[in-house]
Amino acid sequence: MDRQQEFVLRTLEERDIRFVRLWFTDVLGTLKSVSVAPAELESAFEEGIGFDGSAIEGFARVFESDMVAMPDPTTFQVFPFEGGVSGESARMFCDILLPDGSPSWADPRHVLRRALSKAAEKGFTFYTHPEIEFYLVENGANDGSVPIPVDNGGYFDHTTHAVARDFRRQAVLALERIGISVEFSHHEVAPGQQEIDLRYADALATADNIMTFRHVVKEVALSHGVRATFMPKPFTDQPGSGMHTHLSLFEGERNAFHDAGDPMKLSKVAKAFIAGLLVHAREYTAVTNQWVNSYKRLFPQALPDRITESPAYVCWGHLNRSALVRVPAYGKPNSARVEVRSLDAATNPYLAFAVMLGAGLKGIEEGYELPPGAEDDVWSLTNAERKAMGYEALPENLAEAIDVMSNSELVAEVLGEHVFDFFLRNKRAEWEEYRREVTPYERKRYLGAL
Ligand code: GLU
Ligand code: MG
Ligand code: MG
Repeated sequence: MDRQQEFVLRTLEERDIRFVRLWFTDVLGTLKSVSVAPAELESAFEEGIGFDGSAIEGFARVFESDMVAMPDPTTFQVFPFEGGVSGESARMFCDILLPDGSPSWADPRHVLRRALSKAAEKGFTFYTHPEIEFYLVENGANDGSVPIPVDNGGYFDHTTHAVARDFRRQAVLALERIGISVEFSHHEVAPGQQEIDLRYADALATADNIMTFRHVVKEVALSHGVRATFMPKPFTDQPGSGMHTHLSLFEGERNAFHDAGDPMKLSKVAKAFIAGLLVHAREYTAVTNQWVNSYKRLFPQALPDRITESPAYVCWGHLNRSALVRVPAYGKPNSARVEVRSLDAATNPYLAFAVMLGAGLKGIEEGYELPPGAEDDVWSLTNAERKAMGYEALPENLAEAIDVMSNSELVAEVLGEHVFDFFLRNKRAEWEEYRREVTPYERKRYLGAL
């Protein structure tokens, strides 16, 4: 038993913790959990916990369904806010193994680990920093009716007497208590919409943190009698919830994206990385934006008093918020980074980080040229102008995104054959289900008029 494992067992005993939750994530990004008693943990560290993979989305073909969840002791966390009569609980993320001990081809954490070790072979560590947006709405039935936001606040509003402010305070405190550092939190543009930004960390820790974040935020919302939703676009006439993610590569202690001599302070590595993100953007959009609903957010929509700031065209820009990839101004060399603005808050973070890293590394390997940055507001250009400038459109719906992804060698390689095939199959089925549905829009528009 190693020191980390001993630390876990000792902590459980000292704090009298009765429940340890073992967490992992399915291919679609849903959190899975199995509770074990501390007495079982010693053997779980040695042999893992067996489960029937065929019951989990994307995990197994039925003929080889036995899987093993192997707890990763470096992710051990006590959850103090779940105290009460039953005492504290704790959780660890797991790696999923096949019965012979090799990593499962279906485990999103493994997909990301594999991408990270490819980066490590080239001397790079990959860091990410997500800005997570979501809505707080009143509790209600899941019957398709329009939800009611909990407040009427707007961007950076200090909403007095509103549930949102107390909620953010409590959520941030709960996150900090379990070791997830929060950089900023504020009210977003729309009524009920919140944003909480996590401090940057290596991509695997960030993906684990995002899974934990969603759980904590939902729990804290419930304790306020409201509901948190990461649905990409719950309201027709309000902005969607994105998860802009800032990316950087480090070589040891040095940020490999920084070059003091460049006018934009961007290194060659950074430029080739951005070029990779752009060249392959259409191919990986099905992963970063995986739901039918994701595409209701991914285009600029003029609302009465503003435009919703989500990208629709493949281009990059310095400080340009209409671009898919934005290069923020930065001070300290180690803060050099690029922001990808397409991701939404309901993506599977492990897979999303893996495909973006894969695309960026491909740009570096192949020495892709960075096209000129977009200076203008690309939303306000005409289609012809955009075409002349070479700005392709992102896929307009899930069907198109799946179609482009299915021809992508890069995404197939990064996800691995099994996850790639499962994902495409599952998403095609989702599209078909949506396609056959007659919507309220159609009835409103046609029933009387036709
Ligand atoms: N809510 C916007 C989106 O859907 C982003 C707004 C912002 O933080 O710039 O991407
Ligand atoms: Mg925001
Ligand atoms: Mg942002």
